[in-house]
Amino acid sequence: MTGGVVVLGATGSVGRQALDVLRARGERPRVLTAHRDAAGLAALCREFLPEACVIADEKYNELKLLLADTPVRVSAGPDALCAAAALPGRPVVLNAIVGIGGLLPTLAAVRTGNTVALANKETLVVYGTQVMREARENGVPILPVDSEHSAVFQCLRGEDGNRVRRLLLTASGGPFYGKTRDELRAVTPALALAHPSWRMGPKITVDSSTMMNKGFEIIEAAHLFGLPQEKVEVLIHRESVVHSMVEFEDGAVKAQLSKPDMRLCIQYALTYPSRCPSPVEPLSFTGLTLGFEAPDTDTFFLLKKAREAFDRGGNACAALNGANEAAVAAFLAGKLGYLELFALVARAMDAVPYVAAPSLEDILETDRAARAFVNGGCC
Ligand code: NDP
Repeated sequence: MTGGVVVLGATGSVGRQALDVLRARGERPRVLTAHRDAAGLAALCREFLPEACVIADEKYNELKLLLADTPVRVSAGPDALCAAAALPGRPVVLNAIVGIGGLLPTLAAVRTGNTVALANKETLVVYGTQVMREARENGVPILPVDSEHSAVFQCLRGEDGNRVRRLLLTASGGPFYGKTRDELRAVTPALALAHPSWRMGPKITVDSSTMMNKGFEIIEAAHLFGLPQEKVEVLIHRESVVHSMVEFEDGAVKAQLSKPDMRLCIQYALTYPSRCPSPVEPLSFTGLTLGFEAPDTDTFFLLKKAREAFDRGGNACAALNGANEAAVAAFLAGKLGYLELFALVARAMDAVPYVAAPSLEDILETDRAARAFVNGGCC
């Protein structure tokens, strides 16, 4: 078979919404993957009957048993995950894995020449320069799924050769908009997981609350659109209707607006360059008011830390990401306070030895070192 879609991280928030899109379009994904949720993956495989599915090694027997009476091929482990991303026949690979675990599958897809629909922003945060270089060299499109980057991508269509003055990434401000540092001291995982406008997986929801997510998005945008981070600005926009904007050198600003619904960005990446009917509710403009303001980068200082990491280059963004992944996990497990999370991530980024021109192995080692620093500091 040629074409089709591979969904990496099918059991997650983006993965399931991608399957909503495929279901509505009457399309069958070619491969589905998950990490530990064998029951969830088995249920999706029974519904969609893909050619194959992949899970973590320790869940292989459970999944194999659950799918024993189906024709779906079951495999497991990191090599099988990369093989799914490198599936022959030029599928679009939707990478909806959370965390640095998405990096090797992205590289596998790019090196095979498979188009990547990228939700896994950590890929670009930790190794963006190299991933974008390889994508260019192999002629592989990286189509953004993140709503802000999809918005910028849509605004840039038809503007080839026109110079961009700045990108304006919007941010909802999360559940703690307007709070002081003192007020943040009492934040619990349950409070951090209550996002006002988006339903997402736990890790990105916590990242949105700390604004680390927006910091990662600055880095992601700089890589995707080939701009210095200074040209990527952040605006708090509580309504989550304008998903981002592009200002051109003549002063014109283009924006992409819609109801906050990831299915629009996912579908656009899967059907690009076509636009197709979607289940996303239309936007009503009567009575709609839109507000924009600058973020509080003193309280939410990880936003500044992300800019600093991007400017430092080398392995600094990988150190920031590894530290953040470990700190968010520790916070969600009740082992780390909310304000300690901020402080520990910043300290870890500065503590991990700097490598100016990191290899892939250096990036993976940086990730291990940053996690070790955080886990040593909080457990
Ligand atoms: P979820 O936690 O909901 O889902 C993550 C998926 O990845 C699950 O299928 C999970 O499997 C799988 N997974 C987790 N760890 C690994 C691993 N080490 N190797 C392979 N697979 C793994 O995350 P989200 O869907 O919220 O986010 C996915 C990505 O998309 C993130 O990078 C996020 O930043 C980005 N994103 C998400 C948005 C959203 O609306 N959710 C919006 C924009 C970007 P299992 O279920 O078995 O654990």
